This record gives sequence, structure tokens and C-alpha cells, in this order.
Amino acid sequence: MHLFERARAAYVAQIRNQEETMTTVNAFAAPSADAPLSGTTIDRREPGPSDVEIEIAYCGVCHSDLHTARNEWNGTTYPVVPGHEIVGKVTRVGADVTKVKAGELAGVGCMVDSCRTCEPCCEHEEQFCEQGCTFTYNSPDKNGDGQTYGGYSQRVVVDEAFVLKVSDKLDLAGVAPLLCAGITTYSPLRHWNVGKGQKVGIVGLGGLGHMGVKFAHAFGAHTVLFTTSPGKTEDAKRLGANEVVVSKDAEEMAKHANSFDFILDTVSAEHDYNAYLALLKRNGSMVLVGVPEVPAPVAAGSLIFGRKHLAGSLIGGIKETQEMLDFCAEHGIVSDIEMIPIQDINKAYERMLKSDVKYRFVIDSKSLAEAA
Ligand code: NAP
Ligand code: ZN
Ligand code: ZN
Repeated sequence: MHLFERARAAYVAQIRNQEETMTTVNAFAAPSADAPLSGTTIDRREPGPSDVEIEIAYCGVCHSDLHTARNEWNGTTYPVVPGHEIVGKVTRVGADVTKVKAGELAGVGCMVDSCRTCEPCCEHEEQFCEQGCTFTYNSPDKNGDGQTYGGYSQRVVVDEAFVLKVSDKLDLAGVAPLLCAGITTYSPLRHWNVGKGQKVGIVGLGGLGHMGVKFAHAFGAHTVLFTTSPGKTEDAKRLGANEVVVSKDAEEMAKHANSFDFILDTVSAEHDYNAYLALLKRNGSMVLVGVPEVPAPVAAGSLIFGRKHLAGSLIGGIKETQEMLDFCAEHGIVSDIEMIPIQDINKAYERMLKSDVKYRFVIDSKSLAEAA
């Protein structure tokens, strides 16, 4: 056996021996693709030497939680405990932990581990780990037998390398969505150098979209929001959009033909990418972050005429997530949220499907005390 595998096996055996000392906590889980989420209990491991235990205060509700709970992308292992926009207070740390101390605020996003040795990991892009990173939920748990369980729960134990430091200057509930919606929009806007002098489109004003508008505005771009919900126009302007286009209005869309440097598409459901590619100017880029259940056709002609680029982006690495959190603390940026008790999670999912979200549901984790 490879040295690394032997060390890992020894660690897992040690963890198993500690099973009596595991902490049982309340959680909400989807038991199957077509059943509503309901209360249950899960076990959290004793913090190892490099682990941080966090008492969860708030957890944002991402559309990926819904896609996964309902197995829309296939590959969901049940029961699944979603939630990857986690903030709370550190309760215990292992002997080797230096990043945070008990009593401080901390966050956990979409990943809890990766191989840490491949090229993407070494270049701080753990989300592209060649071995596959360990997602916060619905991934095989390297520290035990089962799957990882996410933030719809009272506590979480995570290796410090995947824990983020959280400023106490910002409203903590509004910080939670930064851990996914924030980094997923910040990262591509940074990677494609969006800023002053550029015309930038954000498609969809949901959890990701509203953070995209805030960041594009903060980076100095002329920001245009595309929405299917005319009722969101005033909010979009308040959030930082210079212009709002109702995407169902073909005439309005046509006015913006060949004019955008960059478009970020955050839409969660099937729609026509070609309609937005037509709005890019020569050499412009459109980046997909939304992951609809069904693939959509892209005409070669939509790209060829104007040498246009179509790309995708997945969350962001841990280093960049910390950079984004620090940027938000410096500029007073948080998510606009609607707080819910965990007992309302199924209603929140239904509202999210109707685009009725302003602009991120956040679970008040105190409500989990009643959950099991
Ligand atoms: P969300 O809050 O539900 O927002 C999605 C928005 O898309 C809606 O509010 C709506 O905005 C628009 N929309 C919905 N249905 C539409 C349709 N049929 N046609 C056009 N627009 C429609 O979702 P979210 O949490 O922001 O997540 C968005 C997507 O990103 C999801 O697929 C999610 O899984 C994915 N995601 C990807 C990453 C990544 O790393 N790439 C990370 C997180 C999430 P309007 O009302 O303004 O039209
Ligand atoms: Zn997410
Ligand atoms: Zn790796």
C-alpha cells in the first residue's frame, strides 16, 4: 500500500475507534428524489488534529441544493443533507489548527477536501482537483464510510484548509450566501478581468445573479441585468444594475446586439444561450455558471460570427474565496436575504422554482433545535 493510503487508512481506523465520541446533531435531509426534506439526525466526527468544529448559525439555500435533493443531475446518494453556504462560531479546534480559534466566526463553502497535490490543487483551484474534490455534501466522506453531509444541520467538522475566516464587521446571515453564490460570481468576473470601461451582462436575478450584479458594479463595469421577472427591475437597479432588460421582450434584446464585452449566465432552468451570444461584441465572452437539468443547443454560427467565446466556471478555490470574503468586508457587501426556519425549506424550494426569491433564502440554524 502506498504510504499516503496507509496513513489515510490508519486515520480512518482511528476515527472509527472514536465512534462513541461522535456528536449526534439535528439535520434536515431529502430521503429520496420525490420526498420533501424532513428532520433527522446525523453524526459529526470528533475534531482531529487539523479539524475545526463549527456551530452553524446560518446556512444559505442554493439552487444546487434543490437540483441535488431532487436528483436532477443524477448521482445523488440518499439521504442527502444539502447546504454549502455555512457560517457560524468555532466551538473546538484540533491541536494543529492555526487559522481560527474557538469563539471566532468561520465559514465553509462547497468543498471540504481535495487531494492537495495535483496541479490544480497546488495552484489554489481545488474545485478542479484531478482526483475530484470532496464536496460539502453528497461526496464520499474520506473520514468515514458514508457521504458528506452539508449545512442543513447544527454542526459541521471540517479540516482547517477548507475553513474560511469570516469578518465580524458584516451581518453574519448576509455573509452565508457569499460562500457559494458570492464566490461563483466573483471568480469568473475576476478571471475574465471585468471592470471599468466594459459593458457586462448578468442573466437571472436569483441568488447568484444578485451577487453578480453587486460585484460587476463594484468592479466598475456598466452592468446590465437580464431578467424574466419585470417586477425585479427596481431591485436590480438598487443592487447596482445600470440597465435592466426583460429578456422576453425581443425588441429590447435586439437593441443590445453586438454590444457586450462579457455576459455571466446564472440561470437554473432551460433557456436559449444563442439569444445572449448574439449580444456579445467581437471577441466577447459568455460564461455559464447556471447548470440547468437539460442540455441546450448552441449554434456554431452564434460563435463564429464575431469570434465569440463560450465558457463555464465552477465556484472558486479556497484562496480566492477568502479574497472574496475580505473584499466584501472591505466594501460592505453582503447578500440580500430572506431568513427562514428550516421547517419552511420545502416551501422555499417551491418559491425558488417560481423565481420568487429576494434574493437568497437563509436558514436560521436555531430552528434545527426543533428539527429531529
Ligand atoms: P436561483 O436563486 O433559483 O436563481 C435562478 C434565477 O434564474 C431565477 O431567479 C430567475 O431569475 C432565472 N430563471 C429561472 N428560471 C428561468 C427560465 N426558465 N428562463 C430564464 N431565467 C430563469 O438559483 P441560484 O442559486 O442563483 O443558482 C443558479 C444556477 O447556478 C443553478 O443551476 C445552480 O445549480 C447553479 N450553480 C452553479 C455553481 C457553479 O459553480 N457553476 C454554483 C452555484 C450554483 P429572473 O427572475 O431574474 O429571470
Ligand atoms: Zn451553491
Ligand atoms: Zn487535487
